[in-house]
Amino acid sequence: MALVSGLIAFMALIICRKRQEEYFELHCGYSKAFQDSDEEKMHYQNGHVSFPEARFYIDPHTYEDPCQAVHEFAREIEASRIKIEKIIGSGEFGEVCYGRMRLPGKRDVPVALKTLKVGYTEKQRRDFLSEASIMAQFDHPNVIRLEGVVTRSKPVMIITEYMENGSLDSFLRRHDGQFTIIQLVGILRGIASGMTYLSDLGYVHRDLAARNILVNSNLVCKVSDFGLSRVLEDDPDAAYTTTGGKIPIRWTAPEAIAYRKFSSSSDVWSYGVVMWEVMSYGERPYWNLTNRDVIKSVEEGYRLPAPMGCPAALHTLMLDCWQKERSERPRFCQIVTVLDKLIRNPENLKSMDTLCSPLMNRSIPDFTTCRSVNDWLDTIKMGRYKSHFASGGYHTLGHVMSMNQHDIQKLGVTLMGHQKKIMTSVQVMRAQVLNQSVPSVHV
Ligand code: AMP
Repeated sequence: MALVSGLIAFMALIICRKRQEEYFELHCGYSKAFQDSDEEKMHYQNGHVSFPEARFYIDPHTYEDPCQAVHEFAREIEASRIKIEKIIGSGEFGEVCYGRMRLPGKRDVPVALKTLKVGYTEKQRRDFLSEASIMAQFDHPNVIRLEGVVTRSKPVMIITEYMENGSLDSFLRRHDGQFTIIQLVGILRGIASGMTYLSDLGYVHRDLAARNILVNSNLVCKVSDFGLSRVLEDDPDAAYTTTGGKIPIRWTAPEAIAYRKFSSSSDVWSYGVVMWEVMSYGERPYWNLTNRDVIKSVEEGYRLPAPMGCPAALHTLMLDCWQKERSERPRFCQIVTVLDKLIRNPENLKSMDTLCSPLMNRSIPDFTTCRSVNDWLDTIKMGRYKSHFASGGYHTLGHVMSMNQHDIQKLGVTLMGHQKKIMTSVQVMRAQVLNQSVPSVHV
């Protein structure tokens, strides 16, 4: 009897657990595999969390001692396992270096090492390590991965995977015009996927911008920069607002600027600006407008125009991210779906027709004011081809206006993106000079 009732109790337990798993799979939208690994991690992370529904990001500042959080979430690595090779950048708290890490029984891997400069205060140490406590909670291919921390010897370090191509904004500027639209959409898709993951965890980034995305050698983009104080101290693009906070104005949603309402929806607004940065190969959003003018223009309903050669479908998505009403903006998972559809049906990326939303005047420069071929090339940021045009015998704008795509190729402009940029502006200039309506392309 005891054996039979024991067996029944055991089976009941198994059935209950299975039901519970199915429930969470259905209601949380997570796959089983995802749940299992998460559950395991949560047990490891803080012994008292036992259900996957509790899979939310934990703010290390909720710990009495945030240094305790870092040891709970991140693994300590012995300094002897790290070899620093060169300095690659500078962060808020000290230098960022490239190095190699060798763990027992594994081959050495390239890593990025963020160091805490000597003479730090206790608060700086805490703020520095809080980024590691945050990063350690994430595990996604489009979010920078933490390898561990060095806290028991000096310099104190945060060790992350190494991203060969550095930050996305400078990477795009170095490769202006060199990617296909599909490659650019792939970049955007990766960032949206990383942000879907973070927003599902309840993490609000607040400083999503191309400068805070890192690119590896396979062109995979990963969201980075998770320090708690970073928006306040670290970001050179952050400015003080009338409400006293320091905010990267050009990337931030109006409600976050006005009354600090930061949310995943305000991250979506910033994502729209990142889309614009990507499609314009690292152009500065709102160009040289002052922060005050940016706030005013956006408030009045003006929005950034489609960068030159940007498919209308992508600009429409940007405009959706910049809806004034935050509840009307898409969610990150919806953005991923839209981008996936575009990747599957690239013919939808062919249309360049602009939309009827109020766009900023800057969208089409007035080429009739250009005084020379060189002046015009500078205006469209193609100054590097001045000698090509000169040696091809194109000394006047009149002559340039007669060019076709083949002529541009013959000059030795090999990059498709650059050919398109030049050809589009030739067409626009022609229309402006003839006083016709400008073709539906924004420059
Ligand atoms: P941060 O303090 O995170 O803004 O880093 C400063 C700079 O260091 C960045 O702009 C990058 O150029 C570089 N950097 C930071 N993390 C990495 C990484 N994981 N891989 C490669 N470069 C990095």
